[in-house]
Amino acid sequence: MNVPFLDLSRTHDAIRADLDTAWHRVVDRSRYIHGEEVEAFEREFAAYCGAEHAIGVGNGLDALHLILRAYGIGPGHEVIVPSNTFIATWLAVSLAGATPVSVDPDPATFNLDPVGVSRAISPRTRAIIPVHLYGQPADMHALLEIAGRHGLVCIEDAAQAHGATFADRRVGSLGHAAAFSFYPGKNLGALGDGGAVTTSDATIARIIRQLANYGSEQKYIHQRKGYNSRLDELQAAVLRVKLRHLDDWNTQRKEIAKFYIDELPNKAFILPTLLAGAESVWHLFVIRVQNRNLLQNFLKENRIESSIHYPVAPADSEAYNNQPVIGDSNVGRMLSDEVLSLPIGPHLEKPQIRHVIEVCQLYANSAGVR
Ligand SMILES: *Cc1c(COP(=O)(O)O)cnc(C)c1O
Repeated sequence: MNVPFLDLSRTHDAIRADLDTAWHRVVDRSRYIHGEEVEAFEREFAAYCGAEHAIGVGNGLDALHLILRAYGIGPGHEVIVPSNTFIATWLAVSLAGATPVSVDPDPATFNLDPVGVSRAISPRTRAIIPVHLYGQPADMHALLEIAGRHGLVCIEDAAQAHGATFADRRVGSLGHAAAFSFYPGKNLGALGDGGAVTTSDATIARIIRQLANYGSEQKYIHQRKGYNSRLDELQAAVLRVKLRHLDDWNTQRKEIAKFYIDELPNKAFILPTLLAGAESVWHLFVIRVQNRNLLQNFLKENRIESSIHYPVAPADSEAYNNQPVIGDSNVGRMLSDEVLSLPIGPHLEKPQIRHVIEVCQLYANSAGVR
C-alpha cells in the first residue's frame, strides 16, 4: 500500500465537473482580471471567515506584505514573528523594510508563546504576526490582550488554517487583519498561486485594494505607489467551487487527526497538543520524535511519504545569515530537528491511515521505546 503525502488529483477528480463549468464560464465571459468571480469570491470568503471585507491578492506572502504596508509599518519598526514559521512570515516583514523579531513558540502547541511576546516588545515594536501553524489557531485571547495594551497591530498569518476556529470564531476574523494563501497544497488551494486579506476595518481594506492594484481605484488615477498583486478570475472561479467543500475536507482531516492521536504510540512520539478553545483544521499532522531521520526512512521503506515542516528555522537560513537576528530561536531550532509531518488530507482512505499507524507502532516496538 502506498500512502502519498499529498495527491490533489484525487480531490479534484471528485469535483471535476464543477471545476470545468467554472472555468469555462470565465473563458466564455472573457474577463480575466477584476470581474464577477473575484467579486463574488471576496464576498463569499469574507462571509465564511466572519470578516467584513476580503481582498483577493496574488499570494500569501503579498497578503502579509500589503497588510504591513497598509498599516504604515516599515523602516525603523519591529514586528514580532514566530521563530518556527515558514519563512514567508519573516520575508513579508523584511520586504516592508521593518525588522523581524523572533519569538519562540510553546513547543506543545507549536504556536507563539504570549509570555515571550511580552518580553520582546520594545519602543519600536508596531505589530505581532501570530501564525496559526499547521492549522491550529494561536492563543489569540492572550495575544490580542498584549497588542491592545501596547497599541500594536495583530496580524494573523492564516495561510495554513482556512476554517479553523478559536472560541468559536473563524480565523480571519480574530485579529486586525489576516493573510491567507491559496497555494495549491493549502486546505483551500487554487490551481496555481492566490491569496487574500480579510479585515473588518474598512479603511485598511480600501488601502489594501489600492496597493494591490498599482495604488489605484480608478483606472489611471493613482493615489499611492502600489504593486501588482491580484487574484485572477480563473483562480477565483475555482476557489468558489472549492470553498463549498472546505468544511467537508476539514472534517475529514479532523477524523484522521483523531485516529492518529488515539492510536499512535505516544511514548516514542510526542503528539500534537491542542490549546483550549482552539479547533485545528490540521493542515499538517506534526509529531516530534528523537532520531527523526530513522523514522522517516522506516516509513519510506514501507511506502509512506512524510515531510518536514520546517528543516531549517528562518533565523538559520542563508537569507538571514548575514544579519543579527533579534530574539530567541532556540525552541524553533530544536523543533526543526525533531518535527515530522505524517500524511493527512481528504485524499486518504482509512486503510491508508491504519497502515501509517501500524508502521509507526512497529517502529516504536522494534527498538523498545526509542
Ligand atoms: C504558505 C504560507 C505562506 C505564503 O503563502 P504563498 O501563497 O506561498 O505566498 C505564508 N505563511 C505561511 C505560514 C504559509 O504556510
